[in-house]
Amino acid sequence: MLEGTTAEIRERKALRVNPVKTCQPIGAMYAALGVNGCMPHSHGSQGCCAYHRSHLTRHYKEPVVATTSSFTEGASVFGGMSNLTTAIENIFSIYEPEIVAVHTTCLSEVIGDDIPTIIKKAAEAGKIPEGKTVIHANTPSFVGSHITGFANQCEAFVKYLAEPRQGEEPRKMINIFPGFVDPADMREIRRLADDLGIEYLMVPDASDVLDSAYDGKYQMYPDGGTPVAGLKMMGENQLSVGLGPLASEPALKTIAKKCEQPTELLELPIGVSATDAFVNSLRLAAGVKVPTEMVRERGRLIDMISDMSQYLHKKKVALFGDPDHLTSMTRFLVEIGMEPAIVIAGHPGKKWEKKIREIAPGAEVRASSDMHYLHQWIKNHPVDLLIGNSYGKLVAKAEDIPFVRFGFPILDRVGHRAFSIVGYRGAMRLIEKMTDTLFDHTDRLCPDEDLELIQ
Ligand code: SF4
Repeated sequence: MLEGTTAEIRERKALRVNPVKTCQPIGAMYAALGVNGCMPHSHGSQGCCAYHRSHLTRHYKEPVVATTSSFTEGASVFGGMSNLTTAIENIFSIYEPEIVAVHTTCLSEVIGDDIPTIIKKAAEAGKIPEGKTVIHANTPSFVGSHITGFANQCEAFVKYLAEPRQGEEPRKMINIFPGFVDPADMREIRRLADDLGIEYLMVPDASDVLDSAYDGKYQMYPDGGTPVAGLKMMGENQLSVGLGPLASEPALKTIAKKCEQPTELLELPIGVSATDAFVNSLRLAAGVKVPTEMVRERGRLIDMISDMSQYLHKKKVALFGDPDHLTSMTRFLVEIGMEPAIVIAGHPGKKWEKKIREIAPGAEVRASSDMHYLHQWIKNHPVDLLIGNSYGKLVAKAEDIPFVRFGFPILDRVGHRAFSIVGYRGAMRLIEKMTDTLFDHTDRLCPDEDLELIQ
């Protein structure tokens, strides 16, 4: 399909071809689904909401529920206040959520709808039942990306719900903001925290929501998700740990200011050192020892790295995706002796570019970039492995490059819904995926006399 891509690179300022990002509301919708009993509400046209729901459904392989203000020409001209007020009333009477998380879209942002005022007026008019809550996040897609939308929604949880500490002493509990990772990753982050024996609150937590067990019954609000009562108590906890600067920093900054709570911002725990940093942060904050089994788990990862290094060493890798994922993945590739050759993000960010250049000094690094540039660059500088979301398969096919799916969205495989890529176990899975893919490629192309049975 992309065989016609030329090798000649022309610098473009005003055009992106297949950008490595998607709409802000997609991230906001995902974050909202990670709260128990929460209905995400898209304040815009039906088309936005339908696209965002279907994109999430295709990645998570689960039905994604959200409501919409259903803008038509009238709302586009006169504003969406009437639509949102009616929607709030209908949502509570028909779907009975605990909380409604409104996010905006391009259209409602361009109109300039004042969402807090609309929510306030709806409450005054008795449209919000006693004990129920409506919150909002601004998520215009003409800036940022789905990660910004996720970050803005997480920040909204803190802004609207967290209350400053009442007692003298903070509770011995840690808020963990996991960043924009899959439910399987959130489950693994929880397992690490459980194994360390700490008390924590994960915000949000999409495990058991978007990977819930099949029991033959449909539940509009699955059992998982962060409880609203827990969100209200966030300010009482001793520390907030945020994973992934882009996805988690706004929430951390707001909780630090609003609740005067200490915070710690870390990279996503993908790879050895990033997982070590996460485990260490929890260990120090809670004053616990790392259990022997976790030390052994890490040791098994190191053993696997040393076993496989002969196949991975100096392999050139092209990566693309979301900045938080790429930072940790680039670091992990360097840790295991591979060479990140090009790292491409769709999200803007000079700070991020600088960080990646520090981790992988020889790499070509671009934020605000696209798949077309990635493809053209690879044509000029062939790589051994391509890592990124499902859209990479087009480039991989055109150039016949081994390809490992990683990040969001993965629309054409299923493993990401069940198997984590974070923590020590996740790092083992990534090594397995990379080595298997490289071996498969070699086996397919090599002459019969070179076909190795044992690796
Ligand atoms: S870019 Fe804006 S208008 Fe288009 S689907 Fe995304 S939010 Fe809706």
